[in-house]
This record gives sequence, structure tokens and C-alpha cells, in this order.
Amino acid sequence: MRTFILLLCCFLSSWLYAQTQQSLIGQWEASASEFGAFYTYNWMIKNNWQCMVRTTAGNRYTDKTYTWEYTAPFITLKTENKTVFKGEVKWQGKDQFTLVVIDDGNPEHKGLKRNYFRQKEQTLARDNGGQMPTQMSAPGSTCYACYGTGKADCSSCAGAGGYYDRVSYQRYNATTGYYDTEYRDEWRHCTTMGCQGGKVECAACNRRSSQGSGAYAPVPTPEGLAGRWRSGATIYHFQAQTGAEGRYLTLQEGNYKQYGLWVIEDGFLKIRLFLGGNSPWKKYRFVSFDFNNLRLSENGGYAQLLLQRLKE
Ligand SMILES: [Zn+2]
Ligand SMILES: [Zn+2]
Repeated sequence: MRTFILLLCCFLSSWLYAQTQQSLIGQWEASASEFGAFYTYNWMIKNNWQCMVRTTAGNRYTDKTYTWEYTAPFITLKTENKTVFKGEVKWQGKDQFTLVVIDDGNPEHKGLKRNYFRQKEQTLARDNGGQMPTQMSAPGSTCYACYGTGKADCSSCAGAGGYYDRVSYQRYNATTGYYDTEYRDEWRHCTTMGCQGGKVECAACNRRSSQGSGAYAPVPTPEGLAGRWRSGATIYHFQAQTGAEGRYLTLQEGNYKQYGLWVIEDGFLKIRLFLGGNSPWKKYRFVSFDFNNLRLSENGGYAQLLLQRLKE
């Protein structure tokens, strides 16, 4: 009886979500572990019977274009009128389906399941969203170790850049006919890694180096900047939530995500990605900005970063 109800439920749910060709149109993504490798499938199904599949493994990907046909529950992909893929679509909802591989040319793949989720379209916010709210640059509290310079005294030479080494040497004394021991102080440069003339990159603030100075042009308020922005293929999500060290940041490129922090202070947008260890803060100047566009230049470098706001 229980089995029967379960079967009935399965039947009902598949019937409830019996979808038409129109339901497949859109952008889909599946992640699957297959034969020990992790794959991401991005599948763009267009209404002109064309579709594009991007298969990503690690940081490599391949793009393939097909024509598609769907006769529930089967989907067929063709290139040059030759069927290259046949699968069964099991709808789990209008924005989710399981694709069961029936035949993709490799007998080992038969029965593989990939769970596809509908991806929301990420379009740029083109309409005038109004003025970007600004403020005078908020000063941070001065770093006790580097006083805002990002460079602290090296702990092994205490900022001296080296030390004197007392060296003894023997000098022949012609009067006595013996050798006298004499001493000489020789300068040794500090060989500690990262020490340059006694200065090392500040680990106390990971080079965030707050300067406590607000004498800069207006910068966006954190609330104004918060949201999702695109730069090339990378999506920057400046989250409003604040942690102990700053606000949370997510960088996403395809299926690859990085996490970090962001803060606006001393006239800079400061970004720190969690790359392991004491990863340093990077500082960017605001070259220009409005509500939808942001042009940043890396402090001390020439690289520019162009960001465009995405529609929420
Ligand atoms: Zn510091
Ligand atoms: Zn040193």
C-alpha cells in the first residue's frame, strides 16, 4: 500500500510538471561528479531550436552548439542532422529537471543523471537608477603596527635593516711575536624573507593600512555600492552585511567562487580575498562612478577595473 502511494505520488508529480518545449527555453546549469571528475554543464536552450552546451572541468571548458528537439520526456541533440545525444527529461519543478543520459555515443555514460537548475538572467542595469549616494571618505583607525603605511618594522632586525656582528680576528704582533685577538663590528644585512631595509609588509592589518585621513574627494557610501556588479566574466557581489573586518564580498566566474571582504576607507575601495594565509588588502581609487558604472584604478599600478551594476 505504502509503495503504491509512493508510486502514485511519483506519477502525480511527474504529471504535474509535465512541461512543454517552451518550458525548456532558458539558461540551465548542472554540476555533476562523473567518473572521478567534477563537471559543470551550462546549457543555453534557445527558442530557435539552437542550444549551446558549455562543459567546464576545473578552469577548462568546451562549447558545443546543437539543434534540439523535445518530445516529452525525450530530448534529442543533433549536429548536421546527425543525432549525437539522446536523454530523458524528468521535471522536478518548472525550474529544475533531471537529465538522464540515454545515448551520447559513449555506452559508459548511459544512465548518468544531471540535475539542471534554471539560471536567472543577469542583465546589466541600464536604466538611470539615480544618483550614487556619496560621503566623504571614512577614515579607519590607524594601524598600531604600520601607522597607515602598510609597512611595519621587521621583527628580526627591529627595523634596522640588519645588525652588527662582532667578529674576532688574529693580528700578528711583531713586538711580542704573538698573535693578538682583536674585534671588529661587521654589518650584516637582514636576510629575513620580505625584509627590505628593515621594513616588512604589515601583518597586523594585512596591508589594509588605515590612515585616519578623510581628506579625499567624496566616495560612494557602502549602501550605494552594495549589490552585484559585473566586470568581464566576473560577478562582484558587494554584500551589505558587515563582518568583524569589513563587509562580505563574493567573486564569481562561471562556477568558480572566491570569498573576501570589502571596505571603503581613506578614499579607497579596499578588497581582501581569502587566498589563504595573511592575504593582503588591495586598494583601488575611484576614478569615476555613477549609480550603474564604476571605474577603479589599482593603487600603485596601472590596471583599471570597470564594473557595471547588474539588475537586482
Ligand atoms: Zn598595518
Ligand atoms: Zn629585517
